[in-house]
Amino acid sequence: MPPVPPYPVFIDSHVIGGFGRGSSDLGIPTANIPASDFLASGIPKGQTGIYFGLAKISGAYGTLVRHSSPEENGPKPPATEIVRTEKSIVPEDGVVLPMVMSVGWNPFYGNSEPSAEVHIVHKFAEQFYGADIKLAVLGYIRPEQNFASVEALIEEIMNDIRKAKEFLAEDGFKQIESNEFFK
Ligand code: ADP
Ligand code: MG
Repeated sequence: MPPVPPYPVFIDSHVIGGFGRGSSDLGIPTANIPASDFLASGIPKGQTGIYFGLAKISGAYGTLVRHSSPEENGPKPPATEIVRTEKSIVPEDGVVLPMVMSVGWNPFYGNSEPSAEVHIVHKFAEQFYGADIKLAVLGYIRPEQNFASVEALIEEIMNDIRKAKEFLAEDGFKQIESNEFFK
């Protein structure tokens, strides 16, 4: 089965700092991208929820310096700065990997800006803030949901990851790995 229109949707972006909550609360880090790149992508506006597809990291990366903690800032994202190395992240630079992407509306911006964050299904040894990230969004898994517990949320994310891997094993989706966009 190939991706169903409007997919594949290609997004050429870079990794920015988020609230810093993904890793600490769930053990599932998400690479955040600017809202403007998501809005320009052609994905139906307003469709929040979980998507799946492929991701490629490349270029110089760095660490994130937070000038305030999420606790201090309340609902406001903490002020951050990316301190880049001159290096590319190894061995993942240029490798096309599976991903799941969560899209929601950020209450801090009065729901005028979506937040788009990508969990790459791969264990990285380091963080890669500031790196280039290319995404091929290939389909939609489910709408946003409220969960009774963190355990229930993690279980559902694991389920999303399993579904993403199943889809991505199919020929029509696998082919996208060699798309010109990822060259
Ligand atoms: P933030 O709120 O700043 O996005 P997270 O806790 O969500 O913080 O962590 C995200 C960062 O973790 C990413 O920007 C990236 O540098 C790093 N990271 C490490 N492994 C992964 C992964 N498998 N998928 C996505 N990001 C990862
Ligand atoms: Mg994140």
